[in-house]
Amino acid sequence: MIGAGMGAMAAAARLAVAGHRVAVYERTETYGGAVRRFERDGFGFDTGPGLLPLPAVYRDLFIKTGKEPLEACVELVQVDPSARHVFADGTEVSLPNASRAGVVAALDEALGAGTGDRWGDFLVRAREAWDRTRRPLLEEPLWPNWQVLAEREPYPSVPHKRLLRTRRAGTLAEVGAWELRDPRLIALLESHALAYGLDPSVTPASAAVLPYLEHAFGTWYVRGGIRELARAVYERCVARKVEFHFGAEVTGVVEKDGRATGVELADGTVAEADTVVGGGPWRLSDLVPGRELYRAEEVEPSAEGMSRGRVVVCLALRGARETGAEHRTVVHAPDRQAESDAFGVGEPPAQPTVRIDRPDDPALRPDDAHESLVLTATVPSQTLYDWTAPGAADAFADRMVTVAERAVPGLRERTLWREVRTPVDTQRETGAEGGGVPAPALAAAHGTLLHPSNSTRIPGLFTVGGWSHPGGGLAHAGMSGALVAGLIVEGPEFRGSQ
Ligand SMILES: Cc1cc2nc3c(=O)[nH]c(=O)nc-3n(C[C@H](O)[C@H](O)[C@H](O)COP(=O)(O)OP(=O)(O)OC[C@H]3O[C@@H](n4cnc5c(N)ncnc54)[C@H](O)[C@@H]3O)c2cc1C
Repeated sequence: MIGAGMGAMAAAARLAVAGHRVAVYERTETYGGAVRRFERDGFGFDTGPGLLPLPAVYRDLFIKTGKEPLEACVELVQVDPSARHVFADGTEVSLPNASRAGVVAALDEALGAGTGDRWGDFLVRAREAWDRTRRPLLEEPLWPNWQVLAEREPYPSVPHKRLLRTRRAGTLAEVGAWELRDPRLIALLESHALAYGLDPSVTPASAAVLPYLEHAFGTWYVRGGIRELARAVYERCVARKVEFHFGAEVTGVVEKDGRATGVELADGTVAEADTVVGGGPWRLSDLVPGRELYRAEEVEPSAEGMSRGRVVVCLALRGARETGAEHRTVVHAPDRQAESDAFGVGEPPAQPTVRIDRPDDPALRPDDAHESLVLTATVPSQTLYDWTAPGAADAFADRMVTVAERAVPGLRERTLWREVRTPVDTQRETGAEGGGVPAPALAAAHGTLLHPSNSTRIPGLFTVGGWSHPGGGLAHAGMSGALVAGLIVEGPEFRGSQ
């Protein structure tokens, strides 16, 4: 197993239970990949994901790999409201977790009568897209005839009459403009694409599954921080006798008679194996020089550095967290097209959408007279913008704090110190080129948002994690682990988890 990211560890635990001897070679000194915690002076901050979507994926992992369920290993807390949204015109709404009636009522009250039903009706259509794509996109290995997924738009858009023609929304922007018709609802919808740096005007309508996922399955916090989930998965692996080697960079995949038979490490040693599971297929091809991992007609790896990265600002605050403060707040950008255009030209957006996470968790603050708070914004990766240029990271962090102050007044005055992390840190911690962060796989768009299959052309060589099927995100990486384990244990006829 190359790397101790969440996808690889999910595969490792399952393979160990199936009777395999599993060794993980990780280039850094710790497990979890992007799922890190930054700690200083009694403050703690999640510097990767701030919430866990679809906890069922990790519940399943824990059920399949041991006696203790996930809830016995970590404390899962449903985040309610799931998020507070602060829109460009100053309107605010807090959306209750996983309650259609609650969401409809909250929107009607904050945005005006009728907006709740419009969003509620959209969620019904989004659910249909989810039902149509859930298995092929998350629960099954990528179909050999993946073109069906790539060409068919699963979102049942409402016919839209324009002049004498009837059209159907094909992009997320069209869904917003034609079906939601309220600038705040449109911002709510499009923010789900922008969070991954995807331009809503070209992102397929199938991305409607992203807000649906959040609505239907809720958002969850892991007490102590999301890093606790990585710890629990790591400990489950260790309990199942998975061997971990830290500070062990894999520099090549060893092949014999066209089959992967082991890995070569940076110190020149070779570890033999029947099967090798690598991370991002883009980088994996460098470890097998001269060999194509995928056939021309398959989904090919996309350049990691072209995916957007994140700037994360950890703020150590004096003063108590006020009671009733929302766990997550999204401060929407005034001009989403400008934000998305900035990504295209490799500039950090002038007025970014900023996500604020302020968990009410004593484990993350020195005492109750202080608070730890994390700001996250989506930005071009280090491949497209030099985050190491003097002042670049700090100037952008200042911009993010200014935006966040619209939702949390007094932030600047309360700040004791801050730690700014850029795609350069992500690159160091995950190995991803330019510190890009992969988006989840989405249907339609001619397959441009699909990720390569978990099996490669080289027998015995598989790929796992956010850069391969079914794409990025904590839950998606966990699913990739289940798929890879299934493909290795059951062989190419494996048709997915039930
Ligand atoms: C700042 C940030 C914010 C994010 N926010 C969210 C969010 O809000 N919601 C969400 O769901 N997801 C989010 N993600 C994405 C999510 O964290 C990842 O998609 C998920 O953790 C899956 O990771 P992975 O399995 O692909 O492994 P990665 O996290 O990519 O880790 C790969 C591991 O492999 C190791 N490695 C790489 N190459 C080698 C080699 N040659 N030899 C040895 N080891 C190697 C790396 O050191 C690393 O430990 C975020 C990520 C980042 C960076």
